Amino acid sequence: MTAPTTARLIDGNALAKKTRAEVARRVARLAEHGHRPGLAVILVGHNPASQVYVKHKVADCESVGMHSVLDRHPETLPEAELLARIRALNADPDIHGILVQLPLPRHIDANKVIETISPAKDVDGFHVASAGALMIGRPGFKACTPYGCMKMLESIGCDPKGKHAVVIGRSNIVGKPMAMMLLQASATVTVCHSATPDLAHHTKQADIVVVAVGKRNVLTADMVKPGAVIIDVGMNRDDHGKLCGDVDFAGVSVVAGAITPVPGGVGPMTRAMLLVNTIEAAEHALAIPNA
Ligand code: NAP
Repeated sequence: MTAPTTARLIDGNALAKKTRAEVARRVARLAEHGHRPGLAVILVGHNPASQVYVKHKVADCESVGMHSVLDRHPETLPEAELLARIRALNADPDIHGILVQLPLPRHIDANKVIETISPAKDVDGFHVASAGALMIGRPGFKACTPYGCMKMLESIGCDPKGKHAVVIGRSNIVGKPMAMMLLQASATVTVCHSATPDLAHHTKQADIVVVAVGKRNVLTADMVKPGAVIIDVGMNRDDHGKLCGDVDFAGVSVVAGAITPVPGGVGPMTRAMLLVNTIEAAEHALAIPNA
């Protein structure tokens, strides 16, 4: 009896470690010029998941020698005060990147908040100027999660050029920018969403599938072309409370050529790409390009 084939595991932790080491080198280079990149992380309210995320982002900055400011505000913070705080950070020469942790309380308009961040400091890549730049292939900050997914493809030598990529999910922070990045890399891209009648029809033809839905088992083995590369962005909890993705990992990894695990896949790379965007923002602001 032959053992089932197992897909190559795309190790997000290892790639993130390598990425952070490269950022640390660039931070040290700026230090030689007397500068220290700085990231401001704004948290409004007490969302437990958000508290964990911002803690990680601040710790990541420290790990590469960047300066960071964690700006905590009560749930009741008026929108106008948040916008004023962002404008002050826009003008602060020690801050090169600004991130507002989402979701925001209901009385605050997230779009207004994001658009108040200077595009030059928009290290999350959510500003319309960043999204527009990506759309027309101009330089700009790329949303960290899809940017990390592109790096993961690159890490296994998977060039999207000429390949058929299927993206499941069309959110502004993952699905849409992912589709744009794959298109920019000359893949033929299909975007699926909740109104797609026959998901499997599309995924079965795909060389690359990126799943960003937020529901378990959206992609199962019978929906995958043998040898396809599978990137699982989803973050869910299984029946035992354990973190899992959108992909039926056990089944799909028998059919796929390569696959990202959850945890240890896209998540660590998302965090690493925030550092990459922040060092790029600092290098640009200080006119000291990466060498
Ligand atoms: P979102 O805004 O809720 O978008 C989900 C998308 O999935 C929507 O476009 C939705 O379609 C589509 N969808 C829902 N049910 C579907 C189905 N049955 N078949 C096909 N498409 C379906 O979520 P998001 O912010 O993009 O995040 C997606 C997942 O990624 C979540 O689990 C999130 O936690 C995770 N995430 C992980 C990271 C990381 O670093 N690992 C970062 C960001 C997000 P409609 O547009 O038609 O509603």
